[in-house]
Amino acid sequence: MSFDYLFKVIIFGDSAVGKTSLINRYVDNTFFTEVPPTFGVEFKTKDLQNERETTRLQLWDTTGQNDCRIPFTSSIYKNAHGILIVFSLIDEKSIQEIEYFIREIDDYCTDKIEIILVGNKSDLPNQISNVEELVKEHELSHDFKIFKTSALDGSNVSTMFEYLTEQMKLKN
Ligand code: GDP
Repeated sequence: MSFDYLFKVIIFGDSAVGKTSLINRYVDNTFFTEVPPTFGVEFKTKDLQNERETTRLQLWDTTGQNDCRIPFTSSIYKNAHGILIVFSLIDEKSIQEIEYFIREIDDYCTDKIEIILVGNKSDLPNQISNVEELVKEHELSHDFKIFKTSALDGSNVSTMFEYLTEQMKLKN
């Protein structure tokens, strides 16, 4: 099958923020409390169709384990159209980590790549109250759009991926 658009999306973020869970929710509509760890990079596809066009998203999951952090090689960015940087709305450290990923991305990426920040786990109590301010401190003078999602109850997950898809279409 051929597609009008084929978009490669890379999902970065600290470990355990819900990267794999967001993909599972969006692609398979499933959620697991015990998620097998991702080794290296894997991707899943999601096909979208409207009356005008067909789109295939390739969603590349990455491992974010700090203890064995190796810079992502430039090859992962090759032909990427979109990047999600995921953090947890209950974990301040995962917001600080945004900086690390942005520095990396800044080294390799062009303006053609749409970048979105995703604060996940919106279903849990004890949410960090000043998330937007905190993110500002760590996004290195960028002004990326932030979505708050829950892979557990699904809230905002499709909305976020659909927004990303529309932005990628505008840039390509
Ligand atoms: P990753 O390491 O970033 O890929 O994170 P995982 O997808 O493996 O999720 C790590 C843990 O957080 C797992 O126990 C998930 O069940 C849990 N989790 C992921 N997303 C959510 C969410 O939106 N809400 C809640 N309550 N838990 C989540």
